[in-house]
Amino acid sequence: MRLVLLGPPGAGKGTQAARLVKKHDAPQLSTGDMLRAAVAAKTPLGLKAKALMDAGSLVPDDVVIGLIDERLDSPDCARGFILDGFPRTVAQAEALQDLLDRRGLSLDAVLELAVDEGALVDRMRKRVDETLAAGGAVRADDNPESFKMRLEAYRAQTAPVSAHYAGRRQLTKIDGMAPIDEVTAAVDRALVDATVGRG
Ligand code: AMP
Repeated sequence: MRLVLLGPPGAGKGTQAARLVKKHDAPQLSTGDMLRAAVAAKTPLGLKAKALMDAGSLVPDDVVIGLIDERLDSPDCARGFILDGFPRTVAQAEALQDLLDRRGLSLDAVLELAVDEGALVDRMRKRVDETLAAGGAVRADDNPESFKMRLEAYRAQTAPVSAHYAGRRQLTKIDGMAPIDEVTAAVDRALVDATVGRG
């Protein structure tokens, strides 16, 4: 299963990706997680990306495209992958197409978790509270100022990615406001439809 999950910050992509990983035995490729690992390891890339990430801005396309290019060659990706948080710009979507073409692969589905913007800030606050209650570390960009920037980056740079895939008849929209299990059921149905549709 080769899948792209789209949706604004707080839409539930990470939650659904984790469930898909279990069900399809394919890895979750989260550029956000890869970048946070680079920041934690203080690699040159991490040092460069940190300020942009903390501010809620996107890191340059070539950085994340390079991360995905390298990751796609890992043996675990042979079974497929769930892209979470990539592509986030139309240039990244076009680069992804090239990366797949070069490997003779194609996407099975592009799913967008659609949510009301008004609910997103509350979801972010809830995530912070739950993380703190569990004794975990809160993301540096889970604060109101950075979150506002992340939403703006989504609107300006990532919403066009949905239009890009819709124009290619590859996009399926899922109601991300439904309870988590219902969203999972809708995702499963969409994946069956996508696979059957492709024969
Ligand atoms: P995420 O964990 O997906 O919310 O990503 C956290 C942050 O990492 C984003 O706000 C961006 O600064 C950066 N980031 C993650 N994925 C990408 C991407 N595909 N393109 C550009 N920046 C990204």
